Amino acid sequence: MRNHILVTLGILLSFLYFLFFSNTLAEQKQELVKSSTNQVTELENQIELLTSQVSDYENTLYGVGGASSIPENLTTGDFVFPIAEEDFLRYSSPYGLRRSPFTNILTQHEGVDIATVWRAQVVSVSDGVVTEHWPPPGAVINGTVFRGHPVYGGVLRIRHDNGLETLYAHMSETFVNQNDIVSAGEVIGRVGNTGISTGQHLHFEIFINGDTVNPMVYLSELPEFEQN
Ligand SMILES: [Zn+2]
Repeated sequence: MRNHILVTLGILLSFLYFLFFSNTLAEQKQELVKSSTNQVTELENQIELLTSQVSDYENTLYGVGGASSIPENLTTGDFVFPIAEEDFLRYSSPYGLRRSPFTNILTQHEGVDIATVWRAQVVSVSDGVVTEHWPPPGAVINGTVFRGHPVYGGVLRIRHDNGLETLYAHMSETFVNQNDIVSAGEVIGRVGNTGISTGQHLHFEIFINGDTVNPMVYLSELPEFEQN
């Protein structure tokens, strides 16, 4: 009987102890949660501030670059637009610093992206000679299956006069080869989505003495283009 009372008392005591202790634990936990939440809010505010500072900074840099070194004897009039006339054309990404759609890292976009219809005709902007040719992935030439440029997929680079070169990337088809002579307006390929690309568009670059410049210096005068 006495044992029985002792056991009951013991159970009761441990229950009370547990009740008290778990209460304290719960309070401690609550306080921890509260202070962590405050810290998270504070960090979120800091992130917001930094993000807005970064975007301000990006805006000051966006689309800037290279335009100062254009040879005097070269005017926009010498250029044909790199895509044969299409109903749908729009600039989808400008030249300059941008956030990579793949890595979200700020990188230099060396050309301008022109979104258009699938397989729109790509033309050489000026007379020149093909200096680089990567047939698009899957292209078969003389029994060889090509894999395309790892970044640009089907791509052509053309050398013009005055140290000027142009590059046409992500094409689904190419119609000329290395060392071919091309003339202004000649169809050299078709728009595609090859290489690292988020949708069909022409990635177009202009080089002067090996360095890229903002292609808009040459393309902006075209009136039939809707700019977004
Ligand atoms: Zn691009």
